[in-house]
Amino acid sequence: VGDSADYDSETKSVCPFCGVGCQVSLKVKDGKVKYVEGINGPANEGRLCVKGRFGYDYIHHPHRLTKPMIRREDAPPKGLNVDPADLSTHFREASWDEALDFAAGGMAKIAQAHGGKAVAGFGSAKCTNEEAYLFQKLIREGFKHNNVDHCTRLCHASSVSALIENVGSGAVTATFNEIENADVAIVIGANPIENHPVAATYFKQFTKRGGKLIVMDPRGQALKRFAYQMLQFRPGADVSMLNAIMNVIVEEKLYDQQYIDAYTENWDAEKAHLKDFTPEKMAEICGIEPEVLRDVARTFAGAKSAMIFWGMGVSQHIHGTDNSRCLISLALMCGQIGRPGSGLHPLRGQNNVQGASDAGLIPMFLPDYQSVTDDSVRKAFTDVWGSGDFSNEKGLTVTEIVDDIHAGNTRSMYILGENPAMSDPDVDHAREAFAKLEHLVVQDIFLTETANYADVLLPASALYEKSGTVSNTNRQVQMVRPAVAPPGEAKEDWWIEVELAKRLGLGWTYTDPGQVFDEMAINMRSFDNITWERLKTEAVTYPSLSPEDPGQAVVFGDGFPRPEGRAKFTPASVIAPDEAPDAEYPMIMTTGRQLEHWHTGSMTRRSTVLDAVEPEANASLHPKTLRRMGVEPGGMITLTTRRGSITIMARADRAVAEDMVFVPFAYVEAAANILTNPAIDPYGKIPEFKFAAVRVEKAANK
Ligand code: SF4
Repeated sequence: VGDSADYDSETKSVCPFCGVGCQVSLKVKDGKVKYVEGINGPANEGRLCVKGRFGYDYIHHPHRLTKPMIRREDAPPKGLNVDPADLSTHFREASWDEALDFAAGGMAKIAQAHGGKAVAGFGSAKCTNEEAYLFQKLIREGFKHNNVDHCTRLCHASSVSALIENVGSGAVTATFNEIENADVAIVIGANPIENHPVAATYFKQFTKRGGKLIVMDPRGQALKRFAYQMLQFRPGADVSMLNAIMNVIVEEKLYDQQYIDAYTENWDAEKAHLKDFTPEKMAEICGIEPEVLRDVARTFAGAKSAMIFWGMGVSQHIHGTDNSRCLISLALMCGQIGRPGSGLHPLRGQNNVQGASDAGLIPMFLPDYQSVTDDSVRKAFTDVWGSGDFSNEKGLTVTEIVDDIHAGNTRSMYILGENPAMSDPDVDHAREAFAKLEHLVVQDIFLTETANYADVLLPASALYEKSGTVSNTNRQVQMVRPAVAPPGEAKEDWWIEVELAKRLGLGWTYTDPGQVFDEMAINMRSFDNITWERLKTEAVTYPSLSPEDPGQAVVFGDGFPRPEGRAKFTPASVIAPDEAPDAEYPMIMTTGRQLEHWHTGSMTRRSTVLDAVEPEANASLHPKTLRRMGVEPGGMITLTTRRGSITIMARADRAVAEDMVFVPFAYVEAAANILTNPAIDPYGKIPEFKFAAVRVEKAANK
């Protein structure tokens, strides 16, 4: 490590990977980050995981985009065919002026010819709050509609839709650190040791001091070792299992009637609905013994304070909203919201997916989840923007925009820091759509798979090269600061957005992200008492009740932001996964992340340490399944679904059920999303990444 004399500078910032939002100190020598260590942020108290500690050197990778580039007129047809080490076969260098004119001019021309709705935008959960805000403003002000979205659609959209519906707010009701005040905690459909590793250290400490941890997941996981109960239920049976647990609480009258009377509505309907979900009836469906379901019900209902954490295993289903409704009902009936050590916490994935959603980077909501259909809300924003009104219709989501391209309506896109050509379900369908676009503007730090389809590439900044704020899974707003300059001619994303807006005639004059933050705070009550100046010296959890208040770790102790201050029970019925295994596709495929690789791999696969640890695309199956197939661990297998086929290395993993296969989605050479099902949850519009019927065969070449 050396001491501080070995470095030219040290800068405080926030880790660019997961939603935990660990604060870091970046040690710089000769213009490069050389060492990263955890510092005392509110979420991490000095801790870091392997990604935060070792995953930083992607920012210095030779594949960084360093100059604006425009697609050559003689370039080969659009496809996944550009060599990231040599872009000159498809793109030519341009000045910033030429590239910005080309980018904005192309969008304006298409809007003029076909209407504003012909131009859509995907913003980024990896950018700052200010950049997310500017992005949604550019689409709404510039093209007069709401076809703007980002990757929250692929992760917690269903959780947010259930939370807004039933408790009136899409964010967590308690920070994950509150687990230190809990005596029972449920972790369902999440694998925090791999995906939120620093949060997981708090979960482990909770069990060390006697807290009862109940883990529920179709796939086993390392947290199982710390669990009081591990419920490895059948994939897709979440609602059956959770309703059975709540049935016990109702039948044994373990619920908190006083809390229900004071703070909720629709209890009688919920109670009546749960009658049929007896543990005996549900046991076979969910694969969990009735006595285990009873024990979990009694343990949770008997807790003085209890929390529920969940992840993509809950949300990425066509019944994702129903899964979250069940978790909300479970907490409400036991009065486990609004006190220290109690609450609901969907563990957010990306470093700023909470902040980007809060900033209005979603098609239904302006900042702070204020509906685009409400005339007074739109007016409040257009008054500040000094612009005319825009559409009062909810816009299209990520997957709907892809379908809209195929339908010939969306003809141009502005994509900033997202990689839908890897992350969308049935990704070949998405790639074909991007190839059809007449004009695609991609702003990113690398030539992502999506950037292969671009007409113009705008080189952007990594998080460690920019200023702004980000909001983590805990609702903690933190400042990021540039430790190094962007490489070559790359620019901060907010600067590029402002330059495009100027060329679209929007007259933006921002010269600093602090000005953007100030504008956001005018119409975002969540930023009350939080100022740019204040964030320079401290992280603040929203809501903050005064300029001195560090923010509320637990909310809704005295009612909910809903009519009459009451939360709502919404009964959930069982909806089967969209496609059932059958003779042709007999197994179940589920996808996710792994500890070392982040989402579509554009950053972590360019990180020396992380890529050295996990260099190869892999799929995990139970050793017995591999034996039955005559495949050795390390051998190749072919996975086929109704969408397509990939060939990938097999890994033996006892945590995976015998009829399942788990595939990380970070590897372009065996892209899991070629296989995934695009069927969506009707409320959150989130695809069913967690369940596809699949055929697994030994690959012919081994
Ligand atoms: Fe970064 Fe998340 Fe790891 Fe913290 S837990 S160091 S935020 S990846």
